[in-house]
Amino acid sequence: MEDPELAKRIEEICKKLGIAVHSAKSGRNCANRKTSAIWIRAIADAGDFAAALHEIGHVLNDPENPPHDHRERLDAEANAWQWALDHESGDFDLPAWIRLHSSLHEYYVAVMDPAHPAHTLLVEAEKRDATIRPRVSSFGVPRLTLGSRKQVKPER
Ligand SMILES: [Zn+2]
Repeated sequence: MEDPELAKRIEEICKKLGIAVHSAKSGRNCANRKTSAIWIRAIADAGDFAAALHEIGHVLNDPENPPHDHRERLDAEANAWQWALDHESGDFDLPAWIRLHSSLHEYYVAVMDPAHPAHTLLVEAEKRDATIRPRVSSFGVPRLTLGSRKQVKPER
């Protein structure tokens, strides 16, 4: 069920920034920097709201050329989340932190660099909700063994 107030806030932010908002018929949110447009699912809670802000962050911050590798992809994802977080003055609700973590973690596992800004964002999310798994912070949690699920992909 859509939250009309949150949906309206996204519309207003996009209007101010000159960004077109479309409904994500594919079911997956996305953004296009060149055409200054976002496609988002219906906004039902603070998590969906943060995800929509994240797409706006892509429009505003994505590099001109699409990412070439996992690290560049992670750069773009972390920058878009950072923009969303900054827009809310660093004050995300719990569902927003959970959304950030589940989305950003997918890209982080391909890079696994604790020095990357994405790591800081993931650790921050894990501080807010101790039940988030899998964790990148190591508060007494055994390290993940990634060997078994290592992807063997030919280099392009
Ligand atoms: Zn993204």
